[in-house]
Amino acid sequence: MVRPVFSLRDVWSALVDLVFPRARGCPVCGAGEEPELCLACREAIRALSGQRHCNWCGRFTRNLWAHTPYCPDCRTAQWPFDRCRAYGPYEGVLRDAVHRLKYGGARELARPLGEFMARAVREHVAYYTADILVPVPLTEEDFMRRGFNQAALLANVVSRELGIPTRAVLAKVRRTPAQAGLARAARLTNLSGAFALVGDEAVVRGRAVVVVDDVFTTGSTLSEAARVLRAAGAERVLGLVFVAGRYPNLAPKS
Ligand SMILES: [Zn+2]
Ligand SMILES: [Zn+2]
Repeated sequence: MVRPVFSLRDVWSALVDLVFPRARGCPVCGAGEEPELCLACREAIRALSGQRHCNWCGRFTRNLWAHTPYCPDCRTAQWPFDRCRAYGPYEGVLRDAVHRLKYGGARELARPLGEFMARAVREHVAYYTADILVPVPLTEEDFMRRGFNQAALLANVVSRELGIPTRAVLAKVRRTPAQAGLARAARLTNLSGAFALVGDEAVVRGRAVVVVDDVFTTGSTLSEAARVLRAAGAERVLGLVFVAGRYPNLAPKS
């Protein structure tokens, strides 16, 4: 019997490689052979940590607010969450890393980025004594298309690092236009009614909850999540993200 030189499986796998080239090297800069965050990118990410930020919303600033730890927004606005913390600003290598995770399918980035997030709040008593972590959900449709929820991947890593369980108690029940394409005023109302509590309210009632997401820009996602969790009886709602924008928002003013 003559064996075929190429099996059907070989041909198929060659085709798959052609259409979806196998990622090589660092998922952010492509350096090296191993598909993991390289040392240079790690250093660049570390260099952007520990920047001056607003004590409420967690956004960063280059300006000094001499008499208050709060950004001008937070001196007048009332957020429905208690505070938010970000590892660093939404720019440079931090922005690249988020985009590679979210849009480039580089799931292997969730571990290092989640570890950086955990490090950012490890010393904050409000965070390390929290009861549960809740990832910001995607709609079923978006989840099927992307194949994963980056917020859930990050939450699982933070969960391991801080020893706080993850509970996916929020569902996204309404598809909303992409925030990126909207003016600021539209962004703030875009998510209204988008989230719903799933499962037992007892998981949330009287608890300190940390909502985990990849990015904080206008705060509308965290605000909507916080409203639903508070309505279910959550005692405290904190936010934890990998990156946050700067004050004032870079988003176009409406
Ligand atoms: Zn790299
Ligand atoms: Zn603020």
